[in-house]
Amino acid sequence: MTKVVRLVVLGKQGAGKGTQCIRLSRHYVIEHIATGDMLRAAVKIGTEVGREAAEYMEKGELIPDDIVIRLVKERTSTGIAHERGFVLDGFPRNVHQAEMLNNMLLPDALDAVINLRVPTNLVLKRIASRRVCADCGATYSTLRPPTLNWTCDNCGGEVVQREDDTEAAIQRRLDLYELETKPLIAFYRHHRKLIEISGVGQEEAVSNRVIAAIDDVLSGVSKPTHSQTS
Ligand code: AMP
Repeated sequence: MTKVVRLVVLGKQGAGKGTQCIRLSRHYVIEHIATGDMLRAAVKIGTEVGREAAEYMEKGELIPDDIVIRLVKERTSTGIAHERGFVLDGFPRNVHQAEMLNNMLLPDALDAVINLRVPTNLVLKRIASRRVCADCGATYSTLRPPTLNWTCDNCGGEVVQREDDTEAAIQRRLDLYELETKPLIAFYRHHRKLIEISGVGQEEAVSNRVIAAIDDVLSGVSKPTHSQTS
């Protein structure tokens, strides 16, 4: 029987979480669960969740925990996520969400939590050049645009700048990262799940580092310890 693989990827906005999570989901054949993408889709379709989330998202504020937790619970409990596993991108975002995730899963169900480390000056540059497909969420940049006229290579959707990639909302999201999300590094180090990886460099070089570290944990060669430095 194939082992179920359950991963979380942490990192500042612009650290490359989305790109790396897509690569991880293809490599391990597991579901990529990105709460930001799910919420943007809900806003676009105009569901009840979307209507409630839109105002928070525009300002770069976090959506109330109960809404996001409900979405994650639904997605992790069915289909590929349930049968083969998942990589969570953008969740948990604070210690309360991390505790709820622990309650949702069997004890010790997470295999590893990867913290992608990138200096703030670099993430600011990456966010300024970031462009996304309005339909499928695929990420591009002004330096690496889609092949044809800002049309998504995957689905043909329009490739645009994210609505919350404004200066004020970016600053707010980075402040919230420091305040709410950064404590998760100590939380997961304490739970012996944390793997720290440099997110600087070419996408492929970063994903090779990430996959090698996860493979070591999955095969029992190494176990994340709380002695690792941040
Ligand atoms: P992201 O695409 O991960 O940068 O998320 C975009 C926006 O969606 C965030 O600025 C929040 O408003 C909202 N969001 C995404 N994930 C979460 C979460 N786990 N908790 C609360 N809000 C979230």
